[in-house]
Amino acid sequence: MTNTTYNEDDLIQLSALQHMIFCKRQCALIHIEQLWSENQFTAEGRILHDKVDTARQEKRGDIRTEYGVPLRSLRLGLVGKADVVEFHRQGNRWHPFPVEYKRGKPKGDNCDRVQLCAQAICLEEMLNCSITSGALFYGTIRRREDVAFDTALRTETEKTAKNVHELIKSGITPKPEYSKKCKGCSLLELCMPKACGTTGKAGKYLSGIINQSDALPDPASEE
Ligand code: SF4
Repeated sequence: MTNTTYNEDDLIQLSALQHMIFCKRQCALIHIEQLWSENQFTAEGRILHDKVDTARQEKRGDIRTEYGVPLRSLRLGLVGKADVVEFHRQGNRWHPFPVEYKRGKPKGDNCDRVQLCAQAICLEEMLNCSITSGALFYGTIRRREDVAFDTALRTETEKTAKNVHELIKSGITPKPEYSKKCKGCSLLELCMPKACGTTGKAGKYLSGIINQSDALPDPASEE
């Protein structure tokens, strides 16, 4: 477990962790180059979050629900918002239980679980408590998936946060590498992974030109 403490100015958006796991280049394009483009998936996700994020609260029996809860962790250098934090009554205490809303269905990778775990770590630091689990609610299947914040998930979350800080500090956007997930990426048009990637035809064509010694005049000989 890392004990690093960041300054307020160094805090990164919690959502960057999810972008990092999805694609390192996507994370750099959004969080270094400040590019953003919406596609059908992100628009649906935004509408779902807007519905949830109305900054209100409810109380039903032993569960108190807070919406749009601001989050921060100086230890991991994160700032953001939780869609929903439920507080479950346990004796005379209210125990926090973060719930994140997602438009689709459970994904093959751990990005949603890492984002939720990061929210839990923020809440633990802010409320000086320990949180063992939370839940992801998926719009397509309209079902909750419980998530245990075990050692493996906490380690992955902390490592991802550290990697995002290093990426942003480097200021270097990695080259694109076209893969299946590019089809669902909102930055596909801006990234152009087929044209600009290391394996793309345009990329090969351009490197071919660069490597031909007689293709372009040597700038030094024109002086
Ligand atoms: S289009 Fe592909 S390579 Fe480019 S940012 Fe998206 S996922 Fe990454």
